[in-house]
Amino acid sequence: ESVVNRIAAGEVIQRPSSAVKELVENSIDAGASTVSVTVKDGGLKLIQVSDDGHGIRCEDLPILCERHTTSKLSAYEDLQTIKSMGFRGEALASMTYVGHVTVTTITEGQLHGYRDGVMENDPKPCAAVKGTQVMVENLFYNMVARRKTLQNSNDDYPKIVDFISRFAVHHINVNFSCRKHGANRADVHSGTTSSRLDAIRNVYGASVVRDLMEIQVSDENAVDEIFKMDGFISNANYVAKKTTMILFINDRLVDCTSLKRATEFVYSAILPQASKPFIYMSINLPPEHVDVNIHPTKKEVSLLNQERIIEKIKDAIEEKLMNCNN
Ligand code: ADP
Ligand code: MG
Repeated sequence: ESVVNRIAAGEVIQRPSSAVKELVENSIDAGASTVSVTVKDGGLKLIQVSDDGHGIRCEDLPILCERHTTSKLSAYEDLQTIKSMGFRGEALASMTYVGHVTVTTITEGQLHGYRDGVMENDPKPCAAVKGTQVMVENLFYNMVARRKTLQNSNDDYPKIVDFISRFAVHHINVNFSCRKHGANRADVHSGTTSSRLDAIRNVYGASVVRDLMEIQVSDENAVDEIFKMDGFISNANYVAKKTTMILFINDRLVDCTSLKRATEFVYSAILPQASKPFIYMSINLPPEHVDVNIHPTKKEVSLLNQERIIEKIKDAIEEKLMNCNN
């Protein structure tokens, strides 16, 4: 039973960066306006995510880490309309099978918070500031091969920085920071802004922003397909060896390989130079058109009418690039 749980958990939490992504999404779900991430040894020794969100009630702490326990889904039908990012109640539970998890949290109006070394199921009163802090220590301590692989491969910290950067571009009113444990300087410090371009500038730098064009696509007249895309894409002056594709669908950070390929194809077909694009896209469509359960890590999505949506977006990018090229 516990081996089965551990294996399943290792599927949901594949690397330190996947743990960070889940924790940060929980903070955003909790309405946080500040999310601070601290990482030691690429996340293998320590991951700490602190937020100023609504916190977790003491009576909910013991069940937090049971699988399929979520506060975000009250009935099965909600699956069709769910807007929040998490809803499977598996992330925290999984982390407790493959790491040592401590949660410190306080809810509005409480005089003190609670701390629970989660597998202990014995929340103890403690001092706490607003929100929740989740600490994951010694990730994969009980998965020797996984730990070895991760230790040998380049550490996961760049991936973690990359995730936080992406979140910061989309959630412009949340102040994200990310640093190595003990470092004074943060590697991401987004601040809050009221403009997307400012957010991109704060995270990716002014030189990227200089080469961006705004793009919008909507297809709200179609009978069976209603979608909207807002974003920024690089122009002909932008130079990079690797594509940066920041994709949010219904406010969830996801990957869509076919959309990424299609976009890269348009760039290579239109622009003579070999530069890869910088793309930020936020796509909104009816929740029932998005299948987020395709993969346990919820990263790769598939969409209803995917080909047509990609075709529309491709056309729009093509038009933008043609205009800026002339
Ligand atoms: P899910 O996000 O799919 O609901 P998780 O395992 O990620 O599942 O989290 C389980 C539950 O713990 C959430 O539904 C939420 O109620 C609570 N929770 C986790 N992290 C936080 C946080 N940072 N702030 C407030 N509540 C949280
Ligand atoms: Mg979650």
